[in-house]
Amino acid sequence: MSAVRLTPRKVQVRMPAKLNIALKVGPAGADGFHELATVFQAVSLYDIVSVSEGPAGQGVSLACGVPGVPEDAHNLAWRAALLMGEQAQRPPDLHIELSKGIPAAGGMAGGSADAAGTMLALNELWQLGWSRERLQEVAAGLGSDVPFCVAGGTQLGAGRGHLLTPVLARGECHWVIATAAIGLPTPEVFRELDRLRPEADAPQVSEAVMTALRGADLRALGRALDNDLQAAALSLRPGLRRTLEAGIEAGALGALVSGSGPTCVFLVRDDAHAVDIQIALTASGLTADVVRAKGPVRPQFL
Ligand code: ATP
Repeated sequence: MSAVRLTPRKVQVRMPAKLNIALKVGPAGADGFHELATVFQAVSLYDIVSVSEGPAGQGVSLACGVPGVPEDAHNLAWRAALLMGEQAQRPPDLHIELSKGIPAAGGMAGGSADAAGTMLALNELWQLGWSRERLQEVAAGLGSDVPFCVAGGTQLGAGRGHLLTPVLARGECHWVIATAAIGLPTPEVFRELDRLRPEADAPQVSEAVMTALRGADLRALGRALDNDLQAAALSLRPGLRRTLEAGIEAGALGALVSGSGPTCVFLVRDDAHAVDIQIALTASGLTADVVRAKGPVRPQFL
């Protein structure tokens, strides 16, 4: 993942989206955060993050051009630049450009991917030489999904999702991803889950998921897909149930709301099967867009 560059002035990183193959949510703690047990997978739906040095004293600027994505200090990539500047004791005179391929507010960690991409880019641009572990420690200060986004692959997440262990996952997963025109705010989905399910046990990913990943058993994995936030997302957006059903009726091995939704993901056998399911979902007219992706993938310098 490291690149050899002499005094780099601009660094570009291709950052994958994430989905949660399993997402188990425990009770809310005193700080309002829920304990999670999750299997993340990074998939080939990408944002491109470009970071270049600007004139001294300029501070951070950011361009994105996607409605709903802030171009100021509310953008997670901007916050990542400030945090990196603080930790590395470097003035963050930087311009960040985001080219978004990950649906915004879609439960696929687009903002977190951009923050992680900014951190990886600055590690190169400023030639910091920080290890992935150090970057992930800093990333945890930005959000639960950011440490995973730094690494990608397939990983088990505990705590708020930030305590990571690589998962032994054989083979490739093929996914069809159905996006919605309007996002769902993650905090609202957690609040709905607490309303629907005031009590919760300690979260644990099922053995069925881990065994299916180890054995590259896609049929078993399709049956084992599991997201505690799905009930809450469906309660807020009942129409998503029809999208999930349409994919299953078309022959998908499994269907799941991605993270906090409203994106729905479908596990399929291979490329050809993905095209079939993509066509069926597009024809259903139930979703804004339908794309294909593979996992696991990792961030990549361009
Ligand atoms: P997660 O799955 O991590 O909860 P998400 O994929 O549902 O997140 P994001 O795409 O990360 O959602 O965006 C959530 C909100 O965060 C957006 O509505 C937007 O206002 C804000 N935001 C901040 N920075 C970004 C960014 N770089 N890209 C997209 N949205 C961003």
